[in-house]
Amino acid sequence: MLDIQKIRADFPILSEKVNGKPLVYFDNGATSQKPQIVIDAIAKYYQEINANIHRGVHTLSQLATDAYEISRVKIQHHINAKFSHEVLFTSGTTHGINLVTNGFASILKPGDEVIVSSLEHHSNIVPWQMLCEKTGATLKVIPMNEEGELIMEAYDALLSEKTKVVTVNHISNALGIINPIKYMIEKAHAVGAAVLIDGAQAVPHLKPDVQDLDCDFYAFSGHKMCGPTGTGILYGKEEWLNKLPPYQGGGEMIKEVTFEKTTYADLPHKFEAGTPNIAGGIVLGTAVDYLNHIGFHNIHQHETHLLEHATKRLLEIEGLKIYGTGNKASVVSFNIDGIHPYDIGSIIDKLGIAVRTGHHCAQPIMNFFCIPGTIRASFSFYNTKEEIDIMVEAIKKAKTMLS
Ligand SMILES: *Cc1c(COP(=O)(O)O)cnc(C)c1O
Repeated sequence: MLDIQKIRADFPILSEKVNGKPLVYFDNGATSQKPQIVIDAIAKYYQEINANIHRGVHTLSQLATDAYEISRVKIQHHINAKFSHEVLFTSGTTHGINLVTNGFASILKPGDEVIVSSLEHHSNIVPWQMLCEKTGATLKVIPMNEEGELIMEAYDALLSEKTKVVTVNHISNALGIINPIKYMIEKAHAVGAAVLIDGAQAVPHLKPDVQDLDCDFYAFSGHKMCGPTGTGILYGKEEWLNKLPPYQGGGEMIKEVTFEKTTYADLPHKFEAGTPNIAGGIVLGTAVDYLNHIGFHNIHQHETHLLEHATKRLLEIEGLKIYGTGNKASVVSFNIDGIHPYDIGSIIDKLGIAVRTGHHCAQPIMNFFCIPGTIRASFSFYNTKEEIDIMVEAIKKAKTMLS
């Protein structure tokens, strides 16, 4: 069992007051809070070893390069990638997905098909739409059911020889639904399609094993897993990263430049043009260490209790409906009959409670349920049942005020 009070003491922001009330932070799906060890590691980098990497022979440059590459290997082991050069530093999930769609622009032809799911974040819809527009490929969408689950029979029926890429999130940000990605990857590979997994909402809750999943790409953000903003990872299978053209041109990604012809650097540098977020990349490794120290088994256990408690307590409120009732992570997305989610969100914010209201960058899901948005409470391992009770009481109060 986790000592939650001890863990909470690692996060300075959790003892702050918001609007004069103790903060109850349930917007972990948007970004997680940062432990002191991560905050300190950022300062330590700038205080002690700041220098540009992969360039100089001088000592600081080598120290910074070593720290950056050690972090890459740490993340390689964390996600069980076969090689460290399959682990690319990015600025986040959005960057990682765009790197892949940009690469496929030179591969897809008119008549090819890309399959996305109806549960996607806009970040995993729009770049594929842009790619299809550019190449003449067609976008196909896996439908969902009332429980918020993707319909696997419909997915199977969409797959064909024409399918070149399948892209789906591991866990839905809007509803928390966990998708059967292992099955989906196997099915896609059977028709020769590549698979990108958007792991942005999965990595705070579980440790992905990219070799076991056998996905071709796995993208995630650092800031949702206790790391700094502007950090992320794109895992890509070596054969695919060799096949795709570079995303951006610039320093660091070249072998040799003349005005006649430039040759590209080896992996991973081919995809890492320009000076990266060096501090961020190093400290993302610190965040991964921190999460592993707490342990994903413990995180899962505690978050399961939080989800059960929140579901039970919220359903006590008359007229409250939860969206997404299938197999899911510690997220509850809900509405109250006749009340706009924004109004509830504003009132409980005055009581120090941070939830997300709106379409959660997933408008197609809201259209499916014919609602303008939801109230989303997304829990982390540092949240408590007591905080959930505070939220439930606040929502009851807001409901009385609004009806
Ligand atoms: C947050 C999120 C993204 C986008 O991540 P950024 O860090 O904003 O690039 C993409 N997909 C899902 C499922 C997300 O939750």
